Amino acid sequence: MQTSLEKLRKFFRLEHENGYANTAIIGGLAEMLNFWEGEARADGIQEEVIQAVVQRLRSYDGLSPQSRADALKGLWKRIGDAYPKAQQKPKAQSQVEGRQEAPRPPQNQNQAKPESEAKRESHPQHQQRHEQRPRPQAQPRSESVAGARTSATPAALDAKLTVLQGVGPKNAETFAKLGMVTLGDMLYYYPRRYDDYSQLKPIKELFYGEQVTVIGTIQSVHSRPIRGGKASIVEVVIGDGTGALRLSYFNQPWLANRFKSGDAISVSGKVDQYLGRLVMNSPDWESVEAENLHTNRIVPIYPLAERITQKWLRNVMKQVVEYFAPAVVDSIPESVRNAARVMPLGEALLQVHFPSSQEKLKAARERLAFDEIFYLQMGVLRQRRDWQSVEARRFSVSDVWLDSLKTSLPFTLTSAQERAIADLRTDLDSGKPMNRLLQGDVGSGKTVVAAIAAGIISSNNAQAAIMAPTSILAEQHYRNFTNLLKDILKPEEIRLLVGDTPESEKESIRSGLADGSIKIVIGTHAVIEGPVQFKDLQLAVIDEQHRFGVEQRAELRSKGTNPHLLVMTATPIPRSLALTLYGDLDLSIMDEMPAGRIPINTFVLRPQERERAFTLLRGQIKDGKQAFIIYPLIEESEKIEARAAVDDYETLSKEVFPDLKLGLLHGKMRPSEKDETMLKFRDKEYNILVSTTVVEVGVDVPNATVMLIEGADRFGLAQLHQLRGRVGRGADQSYCLLIPTREDATENERLQIMAESNDGFVLAEKDLQIRGPGEFLGTRQAGFANSLRMASITDVKLIEKARAQAQAVFEKDADLSQSEHKLLAESLGRFWGEGKGDVS
Ligand code: ADP
Ligand code: MG
Repeated sequence: MQTSLEKLRKFFRLEHENGYANTAIIGGLAEMLNFWEGEARADGIQEEVIQAVVQRLRSYDGLSPQSRADALKGLWKRIGDAYPKAQQKPKAQSQVEGRQEAPRPPQNQNQAKPESEAKRESHPQHQQRHEQRPRPQAQPRSESVAGARTSATPAALDAKLTVLQGVGPKNAETFAKLGMVTLGDMLYYYPRRYDDYSQLKPIKELFYGEQVTVIGTIQSVHSRPIRGGKASIVEVVIGDGTGALRLSYFNQPWLANRFKSGDAISVSGKVDQYLGRLVMNSPDWESVEAENLHTNRIVPIYPLAERITQKWLRNVMKQVVEYFAPAVVDSIPESVRNAARVMPLGEALLQVHFPSSQEKLKAARERLAFDEIFYLQMGVLRQRRDWQSVEARRFSVSDVWLDSLKTSLPFTLTSAQERAIADLRTDLDSGKPMNRLLQGDVGSGKTVVAAIAAGIISSNNAQAAIMAPTSILAEQHYRNFTNLLKDILKPEEIRLLVGDTPESEKESIRSGLADGSIKIVIGTHAVIEGPVQFKDLQLAVIDEQHRFGVEQRAELRSKGTNPHLLVMTATPIPRSLALTLYGDLDLSIMDEMPAGRIPINTFVLRPQERERAFTLLRGQIKDGKQAFIIYPLIEESEKIEARAAVDDYETLSKEVFPDLKLGLLHGKMRPSEKDETMLKFRDKEYNILVSTTVVEVGVDVPNATVMLIEGADRFGLAQLHQLRGRVGRGADQSYCLLIPTREDATENERLQIMAESNDGFVLAEKDLQIRGPGEFLGTRQAGFANSLRMASITDVKLIEKARAQAQAVFEKDADLSQSEHKLLAESLGRFWGEGKGDVS
């Protein structure tokens, strides 16, 4: 039998045993509808049956015991007609019940639940009959779980959700989809947002559009069919002495029986207007005796899944949270909590779900965010220690050697580059594996720093591998490296290995790497592919690290024995943040652009102003410059109105710029085709390169001065900044022209910010605010971002606080072996999950 029907049967039976006193459920049988309706739907019970139950139970309270008996009996018969199986009863059971005389309610068939259990469920309900606080349905069924309250073991929180009454296997499945499998998961299933109904208002002071709670007495209730009987409306008028307010409920005819003149109710919702009068449409409501769970308070709004209603979830949540939150063990040592002045964990969990005030909510969120950063930082510190506990080969070069290499470069290094190189040099000679993040805005010149590091390694007869996210970029690095290191390496000692490299060449590169004749290999993920073996890999460089996953980085590193690691990123984030997110890495920041760079002029144009953009572009090309035109997609895909590079390439080359030479670059091209196109553009065979975002990363064509981006509203800030970074690399004024898809997108916040700032740091900060940490951080920190559900990585103050505390604990007891850190060690293990080795 369906769980929901089983449940009905059980409560009906209890009700029968209680002499139809409407006590089977605290607050009355109608209260079970809060969870039952959703569950029945989830069970696939016919809607008519559900409505029958709903209507009967809603009016149940107003009936005499005899009528109640009839009502339940009738209802059960109706269910039996629809679900004959529900009526079957085992023999043993019917004997027991044969003694009973009163009209027979459904029999208890539930053999999985012996009598004693039914009693346990009914018992407290009798005791609490007169209490205001109803509904312990969701309380745990088993003793072991209930016992958790006092023993406070995490085991209780590991209990499956099916221990909750009202949660059957079907609902448990839905919960699982939302990420809730255990009771503990529920505690950490935070509301998406809150509606603050805590500000009660007299009706007289209401105004259109506001979200409020009003308490009033029901003056009248009317129910009538509308739309020729196809629908119905229940209209309720409530008054509070200052005025009257009309509430309308559509297609919920049973409500007519639930509202009774003279009853006080509290309603929460948005004030609407109808024929010049203020009204509320289907506001949440409850009788004012009931606990103010849905109204008259700050109400949590949870992310939902199919079959689960907000109200139902809130009810279940309320019970779980109230029961279990106080039992949660606080793993953060008291000394730390006191020093950080954060709320106890149990209280925070309670308050984050059902805040008693905005202040408490804020404090609760802060506490939960604190934990996230704290655990994150602890883990990162540990990683760093593990990393540094191994030995690495020392690499040193003389000043003379380094100076002569520098002199051979086509430019003078910026002082930021000099500092970064000094950092690297120290690391490589430290005897511990380097683990450094080189952070520098687009165009700040990271490549040469990496090349020098690779030069140091190769001059000591060891090998270096450089991994870039695209073959275009790998190829560019390859050319740069060969050029920058031409004085110290023979061309055959530096090789390019991408997916498209012919198999025969791959073979020779593999053997060259294996026998050590190749000193530096530059490539895409092809360099970490299985068959590639190094004789002595001592440096792994990863460019544009946010494009790579943790695994790929670990793989590259595993090609050597404790090799030195350099990761490079153009995603500038504030230092304090970097220290947390990349706490396991040492940080070199290049905050200086090579001399002579002129800031790029950025304009946001409306789609109709495209001709202006073309004019500017023609002017630049006339001066011998080149231009990029970027489109968001390769081909017109259904429904997406993005302009397609392929189509527009045709139009542009035939109609708009018939006199100019245009190249086309997109991701669907073979790598060799891409490279060819890119090379032709660099060699000025094309005036304009029409492209998708494949040029986004790192590509360097100093003669290009115009970056025109179509569909600019479709890109994130970081991506726009990267794209813009493709120009402004030479000595001339460059332009970035942003054209959004639609006119109204011209106001697009991101685009305006782009026009206002060239500073990667400023943009990154804005991007963070707009997109949130998850998307902002990309692959590498996907894990981090997931664990940072409460903490905003823009909250630098909180980060500093949590970081400082973690640091202090770590310095005192790095292994967390002291007894006061036992719980912390456990929680930390849980936070980081098993076997999550490499966070770098
Ligand atoms: P990114 O940090 O974005 O990877 P690159 O290493 O590609 O930047 O450098 C961008 C451009 O600046 C390249 O053309 C490079 O040759 C040039 N460059 C790098 N360092 C300097 C410097 N110190 N002075 C002048 N130009 C430089
Ligand atoms: Mg680069």
